[in-house]
Amino acid sequence: MQGLMQEWPLLCSKIIDYAARQHPRREIVSRSIEGPIVRTTYAEARSRALKVAQRLERDGYRRGDRIGTLAWNTARHLEAWYGIMGMGGVYHTLNPRLFPDQIAWIMNHAEDKCLFVDLTFVPLVEKIAPKVPSLNKVIILTDAAHMPDTKLPAVPYEEWLAEADGDYEWVDLDEHEAAGMCYTSGTTGDPKGVVYSHRSNVLHALIAVQPDAMGLSSRDTILPVVPMFHANAWGLAQSAPMVGAKMVMPGAKMDGASIYELLDTEKATCSGAVPTVWLMLLQYLEETGKKLPYLKKVVIGGSACPRAMTRKFRDDYDVDVIHAWGMTEMSPLGTLGTMKPEYASLTGEDQLDIKVKQGYPPFGVEMKVTDDEDLERPWDGKTFGRLKVRGPAVSRAYYGGAGKEQFDEAGWFDTGDVAHIDQYGYMQITDRAKDVIKSGGEWISTIDLENLAVGHPDVAEAAVIGVRHARWDERPLLVVVRKAGRNPSKAEILGFMEGKIAKWWMPDDVVFVDDIPHTATGKIQKTTLRDRFKDYQLPTEEAGAA
Ligand code: ADP
Repeated sequence: MQGLMQEWPLLCSKIIDYAARQHPRREIVSRSIEGPIVRTTYAEARSRALKVAQRLERDGYRRGDRIGTLAWNTARHLEAWYGIMGMGGVYHTLNPRLFPDQIAWIMNHAEDKCLFVDLTFVPLVEKIAPKVPSLNKVIILTDAAHMPDTKLPAVPYEEWLAEADGDYEWVDLDEHEAAGMCYTSGTTGDPKGVVYSHRSNVLHALIAVQPDAMGLSSRDTILPVVPMFHANAWGLAQSAPMVGAKMVMPGAKMDGASIYELLDTEKATCSGAVPTVWLMLLQYLEETGKKLPYLKKVVIGGSACPRAMTRKFRDDYDVDVIHAWGMTEMSPLGTLGTMKPEYASLTGEDQLDIKVKQGYPPFGVEMKVTDDEDLERPWDGKTFGRLKVRGPAVSRAYYGGAGKEQFDEAGWFDTGDVAHIDQYGYMQITDRAKDVIKSGGEWISTIDLENLAVGHPDVAEAAVIGVRHARWDERPLLVVVRKAGRNPSKAEILGFMEGKIAKWWMPDDVVFVDDIPHTATGKIQKTTLRDRFKDYQLPTEEAGAA
């Protein structure tokens, strides 16, 4: 027997329609690239998105065409996304922090035809465009008055948009059609294209807003610092309008002072960003003595959120940290560290023991850890294995068929992360499969060591890599960036770590550096570090035996 309910395709256009109808005057506030703070509303954003769709069609773009965006988080970028998706196009976010050749490679792979670009990136596009033959139009997200002098086939967004009247209907699509694309950074091998569908974006937003996930509502003011070009802005460009939350878009400025200004003047209740951004904000707050009276919670992910950061937010600013884990291939949310009743009454350090874990999956994500034979490992909070996931917003393939080995027949996607899961379902990442240190046949988690080291008050940043060792194959080397004006010694740092981890996990040496290299998405670039220290001689060959 069939159900007798309506077909209501899960299309992204329905999200902006809903926001404009139920929350028409809710604001989207942006720090514009030109400088001033500008304000618009969901009603206005929808009517401009309709114009984007209409105007793109008039330029000859059609259903399925990939339209690149190289832009910061602003209302214009958001309108462009909804306009592109509404005419059946596929928004393709490009990460400006990649090398120009990598961006050109990605654009060629996706065959981008048109590009929306912020003023900041015009010089970058001038370098890239000659290498991308499919690209025939560049829309600069500004007005004629601010147009730069360029040889690109470029038009100013505002004037281009003004040529449309917005009398347009969203294209009637199949919910399984592509809505967006994002390439993973490709720290190993070529970047791989993730293709989101309308259905997966809508379901992902529904998953994200759940109370035990991001817990978003129309009473929230959300400041997505995480860029739309980084893993889909963690879905916030869809989940915020889905609940009618006010949005505050930080544009190009993500330093502590700029983020603080927006958090404060717009009274943001919730924000999301990678740990490095929060490090800058916390430093700014420490220097200025300012507080965060409006902010209730921050979602922190992309790389492990250090315990000390969660503690500082909680104890000094009364802000709840929700540690989250995910990846581009998962739209990207995988787990969030909200509290089940089993843990809800914990306080102090006991609470932090749970908050440093990456959390548990909301409805819509299935998860397991397996051994090398693909057998599931127990949920005991210590036995680690390869982390595998499946769900309606998880990739089932990469664009063009790359990386087939990461997908199995039962639909599980191998994340490349190593993790354990505890008795209540809380997952903790212990490493990337390729970063884990294998010492005498046992695994050492580099992330655990890094988290511990950054807890030292004089340490600004820490990275751990495996260094070749005659007897143990590999031993951990701790690389540290000191806080400005502080001068901790190796012995002080090791002394701080002692007793908090198994003895055989203790780094064999500590080196101090001025900076640690980061990937385009703000993660520690372990490959570069390993290269830099590949001939490093550990102090004593017997150190590992201790
Ligand atoms: P990119 O490599 O382009 O940054 P993603 O943003 O998709 O790609 O990165 C996903 C990876 O980031 C995960 O597989 C995991 O290794 C790491 N990661 C994300 N969130 C966390 C977290 N909270 N703790 C530890 N690692 C994380």
